Amino acid sequence: MKNRTGTLFLFATGWFLTLCALQLFSPAKGPLPESSRPLFLAISFFFCFPSLLAMLAGEVVLGWGVTVFSVLTLSFFSLKHLSLLLLWPAPLLIGVTSLSHVAVRALREKSKESEISLERLEREGNLLNAQAQEETLQYPALKRKLERYASLSQVTHLLSSSLVVKEVTQCAAQQAYEVIGKSAGSFLLVLEEGGEELLLASSFLAKDFSGPKLKKGDLFDQWVLKNRRPLLVRNSREDFRFNLDQLEKREVASLMITPLTTGQRITGLLRVESLEKDIYTSDDLRLLSIIGDLVAASLENAHLAQRTEELARVDELTGLYVHRYFQERLQEEFSRSQRNRAPLSLLMIDIDHFKTYNDRYGHIAGDLVLKQVAHLLKEKSKAGDLVCRYGGEEFSIILPNRAKGEALSLAEELRFCVEKEAFTLRRETTHVTISIGVASFPADGLVKDELLKRVDSFLYQAKREGRNRVCGS
Ligand code: GH3
Ligand code: MG
Ligand code: MG
Repeated sequence: MKNRTGTLFLFATGWFLTLCALQLFSPAKGPLPESSRPLFLAISFFFCFPSLLAMLAGEVVLGWGVTVFSVLTLSFFSLKHLSLLLLWPAPLLIGVTSLSHVAVRALREKSKESEISLERLEREGNLLNAQAQEETLQYPALKRKLERYASLSQVTHLLSSSLVVKEVTQCAAQQAYEVIGKSAGSFLLVLEEGGEELLLASSFLAKDFSGPKLKKGDLFDQWVLKNRRPLLVRNSREDFRFNLDQLEKREVASLMITPLTTGQRITGLLRVESLEKDIYTSDDLRLLSIIGDLVAASLENAHLAQRTEELARVDELTGLYVHRYFQERLQEEFSRSQRNRAPLSLLMIDIDHFKTYNDRYGHIAGDLVLKQVAHLLKEKSKAGDLVCRYGGEEFSIILPNRAKGEALSLAEELRFCVEKEAFTLRRETTHVTISIGVASFPADGLVKDELLKRVDSFLYQAKREGRNRVCGS
């Protein structure tokens, strides 16, 4: 641009100097002498050329300025030499040229603009295309992710469908295995209240799982217990957070563990592991943590339900099983004995003249007698025997797999033991006796109610015969 302006400036200066010379040597008014014509033609050329150049250089305003100036100057000289009028078409031609030039330029700019917008459109198109391709690639992964998170509602449903602790732990291991996928096995380890040792509560293993099962926690589990947060180990052989010499010889390459927490207390760990390295992602760990939270809540519910059921089974005063539970268990044991053709015996125990203790020492002292007798009965019975409070001051003991003879001798032992026991009521030492009826399956009855009737009648027989005795025949 600078060069063009310089050229124009040179032409303009040349033209101006020539003009001055022309003015100085201007001939008189009249036709242009023959000898001066070439000179004037040269002058007119200098008029036109700069403007032409300016136009071509794109300096439209300058070109027009020069053209107008040329026309004015030619008009001035035409006053002296009419023949110079012949030169007028030249600047007009330049004007037309410049106009068309402007039009061409405008058109060019327009096409350039459309080229630019075309390019931009193409670029945007390419970008969108790349984006679409990327999204197409991501689609299966996103779909899988969505499916996994949707399966959480199924996990919640399954976990909450049971209030039996064992069933919940089994379901937890299976769901962790299935929802996370790609694992060789999943494990649920529990931490007993107040205890420090982790114990395997349930596991779910791949069909081709061949390695030894995790029985209690290893150093990875201890890490989670200590740090109280989920753990992702991508490659156990190269994880320098752990001293691998301490690791049991179990072939595990990647694993994830999440703590199960109830309030502030860690109740257990949920763990999945694989024999392949770099198999789990942080997204998998997030998912396992969510499953862990669901499992922890379900386990707590199951424990609460179990505890409530246990409380409902046990009599508050004596700590023995209540009548309802006695009936349930008697039915179960009876069916089992019938199935296995095994003996079953039943003791019905009643405290003799219990009313008099209440009357003499008061109701609270009466309660103490009930407690102490219940304690003795429990102490003397074996594991597997079911000692119950039948109601009031009556007790019953179910003796699975014990025939009449054995039951009679146990009854006699109990009677003797109570008779010998000293009871201190209101600082007064006294004694208590019991009467016992003994009936057995199959000798005394082939169905539950028959056996109950029979044992009752033996008890009344003992009462009738003077109390403090055992009757079974
Ligand atoms: P028997 O030798 O014939 O069995 O005479 P008994 O006095 O033991 O029998 P009875 O059925 O006449 O009296 C039982 C009493 O036991 C009546 C009742 O007030 C009392 N009793 C029942 N349950 C409880 C209890 O939970 N605590 C106390 N302190 N007394 C109770
Ligand atoms: Mg009674
Ligand atoms: Mg009684």
